[in-house]
Amino acid sequence: MVSTPDQQVTQAPEKCDIAVVGGGILGLAVARELIRRNPRSSLCVLEREAAVGAHQSGHSSGVIHAGLYYEPGSLKAHLCVQGARELYEYCAERAIAHEMCGKVILATDSSELACLQELERRGRANGVAGLRRIDPGEIGQLEPYARGLAGLHSPSTGIVDFPAVTRAYARDVHEAGGAVAVGCEVRDVVSAPRSLRLLHGRGTTEAGHAIFCGGAWADRLAVAAGADPDPRIVPFRGAYLRLVAQRRHLVRSLIYPVPDPSLPFLGVHLTRSVDGEVLIGPTALIAGARDAYGLRRVRYNDVRDTLVWPGTWRMLSRWWRTGVKELRYAAMRSALVSATARYVPELEVQDVEPSFAGVRAQALSRNGRLIDDFVFSATPRALHVRNAPSPGATASLAIGRYVADQAEQGFGWGG
Ligand SMILES: Cc1cc2nc3c(=O)[nH]c(=O)nc-3n(C[C@H](O)[C@H](O)[C@H](O)COP(=O)(O)OP(=O)(O)OC[C@H]3O[C@@H](n4cnc5c(N)ncnc54)[C@H](O)[C@@H]3O)c2cc1C
Repeated sequence: MVSTPDQQVTQAPEKCDIAVVGGGILGLAVARELIRRNPRSSLCVLEREAAVGAHQSGHSSGVIHAGLYYEPGSLKAHLCVQGARELYEYCAERAIAHEMCGKVILATDSSELACLQELERRGRANGVAGLRRIDPGEIGQLEPYARGLAGLHSPSTGIVDFPAVTRAYARDVHEAGGAVAVGCEVRDVVSAPRSLRLLHGRGTTEAGHAIFCGGAWADRLAVAAGADPDPRIVPFRGAYLRLVAQRRHLVRSLIYPVPDPSLPFLGVHLTRSVDGEVLIGPTALIAGARDAYGLRRVRYNDVRDTLVWPGTWRMLSRWWRTGVKELRYAAMRSALVSATARYVPELEVQDVEPSFAGVRAQALSRNGRLIDDFVFSATPRALHVRNAPSPGATASLAIGRYVADQAEQGFGWGG
């Protein structure tokens, strides 16, 4: 077998007990958990790109979320709080760059105070450690260049190198006896009486069971395995700016706005990353491709799948004003900077330069609802991660355990 860095191989086995489709942070977290629980099983991760973590897991804000945004009782609330705790321990054990630097959420207008209070209520209900309401004086002590009428301080929020975490999970899979095969795009799924045949770019793998963690392609893989097409994935491009080196002192750790409670996005934020850069973003613009890292990338199939989905038109009729605002942010750097200058007034357009973009895999229901919570589903011999937007990376270890529990129950494993 031809090896690539970090023990990834370019050939997939013809047969295995468990196949995990998708080598992002979630596919690898699930694979890692399954192979540790079933050390005598053969397990293979099939990843379509030439390396793991090439999509969302490699293009994020790099924030370990503490769990304060999410509806108490939701999967996000439970898996984020638990996952963040475990991720800090994992990164400390493996010497992966991370820091519990804390974050402030700032209300700059009195109309945002009720929402700030709701975030505080949710955070307390979810068991977020150390959450505290702060006044303008305390905001200035934590973030000297930030302004707000009131704020929330979450000291247990942090930053991490998610690509390094993803590679570490891949190494864990390899060391436990599993294989991570890259360059293996699964193109079809055929059900056989006692297995699933996964037809991919390098042949066929016959798997006893499969777990699909395809991120932006999750809906297509689920439909290929016989699942309902609802929800569909609609890609949202999230572009970042970064502060030029001489202006990085404007941000000490993480500064977030009060988000619109009816949208599953957190708003444009300022985040220091583990390498010392300060990012501003991400924007949230419907994209012309599920891998639209460049603004002009358009793929016919992706545009068609977005446009023929009834939910897209229902969403657009409700959110067109937000869409126009996002279009301005994407087209005009000055618009994004002046929105951010509401909470960091010294920020000016010459302080920023373009950085990278990511593409969020956001599930959209047929009735036009942007689905906020994580969604998992099942088809014969398979489980599917259908919606795992932020804080999916934070929650990865907890999601790995949750999916492994579902697999044990659904497939009758584990005695
Ligand atoms: C802009 C942005 C900012 C974010 N910020 C944060 C943050 O700060 N904190 C946080 O916790 N979360 C954040 N998230 C969310 C987080 O990145 C995701 O929840 C997480 O990466 C999802 O992991 P995944 O493995 O499901 O997806 P991905 O990383 O997208 O992995 C899916 C994998 O499946 C593979 N695949 C797809 N189809 C096939 C196929 N047919 N055959 C084989 N392989 C296939 C893909 O190539 C890909 O590698 C952010 C996301 C974005 C986009």
